[in-house]
Amino acid sequence: MNDPTRASELSANQPRPIGSLVDRFGRIHTSLRVSVTDACNIRCTYCMPEKVLGFLPQDRLLGFDSIVRMVRVLVGAGVRKVRLTGGEPLMRPNLSQLVERLSAICGLEQIALTTNGMLLSDQIDGLVAGGLTHINISLDTLREPAFRQISRRDGLDRVLEGIQAAVESPLHVRINALLLRDINLEDCLPLVAYARKLGVVLRFIEFMPLDANRSWNLTQVVSGAEIRRLVEGQFGALVPQDRADASQPSRDFHFSDGVGGIGFISPVSEPFCSSCNRLRLTADGKFRNCLFGKQEWEVKPLLEPSPGQVGCTDEELLAVVKACVDHKHASHGISDSDFQPPARAMYQIGG
Ligand code: SAM
Ligand code: SF4
Repeated sequence: MNDPTRASELSANQPRPIGSLVDRFGRIHTSLRVSVTDACNIRCTYCMPEKVLGFLPQDRLLGFDSIVRMVRVLVGAGVRKVRLTGGEPLMRPNLSQLVERLSAICGLEQIALTTNGMLLSDQIDGLVAGGLTHINISLDTLREPAFRQISRRDGLDRVLEGIQAAVESPLHVRINALLLRDINLEDCLPLVAYARKLGVVLRFIEFMPLDANRSWNLTQVVSGAEIRRLVEGQFGALVPQDRADASQPSRDFHFSDGVGGIGFISPVSEPFCSSCNRLRLTADGKFRNCLFGKQEWEVKPLLEPSPGQVGCTDEELLAVVKACVDHKHASHGISDSDFQPPARAMYQIGG
């Protein structure tokens, strides 16, 4: 097989490496996204409803001991990268302690965080000291009114403060932006100029049907190709970067003057399911094999048995995750005529 990313062409009957997380299509799972909370301090229209009936209570959240154990088991099965997310992960109390405990796991190469940046400047020192290696900060606009319209809250200045703190830290920093055609398409070029000034890579993510309002509509999606045309019109031809990691969802480019970098994550217009290496663990302790999956595999009762019940072995935990991997579909199916979005929205799954 010349192209390892063409998983759909791999035989479902190929022998699987023992202990590793390989699905029916030959995709090897080395990346785990851990949601640590479904709570958030803003209310992005493309993610959350305006009014939330309630976030998960503390006792329904997977505890740090359980997360650390689960990650250790999965590192033993080939996972090399963990990304902490949410909801807003910085709303989980003592997150830096979790980072510190994860960083002690032998074999885990990257501990990354995705955040809206609102609480970042206060927490960054603890996260860096704990061993965080990478951070993605979401920023969709540089205009306060548009920030308020998108997030239904104030606070752009705090996000920018957080980005500044990250840039001055030793972390690998990226900015994630999502453009909605009728709201912030005009922010595309100013965001590029801003990221270039900071010397930070900016990635545009296409709007996916994962919003709680169920208002996703193809007309609002601004494709990566369209954004690329806009950017090239202003900043000149983009130079493709070699894909060092085939499972990387982003198509990354340099600017011809060498300043900054840009990437396009285009799950709607150019799905990358065939090279997906990601698993997800929700804040309430359920494994998912895809953002758009309909099924979840619960581990919280195994990790945190009720009084009088017996705990589980690491092998039992791994068996649940393997069942989850075994049921992964070839693709997310967004463009199928019978596509239905999952019951949970992005903030409840973990982006
Ligand atoms: N609260 C953190 C943040 O906003 O960065 C982490 C969780 S958030 C769900 C992770 C990422 O998902 C953000 O970059 C956000 O823009 C993206 N996101 C949320 N809803 C989305 C949607 N419907 N389609 C595409 N990306 C989405
Ligand atoms: Fe909160 Fe992130 Fe969802 Fe925005 S995208 S509402 S910041 S979880």
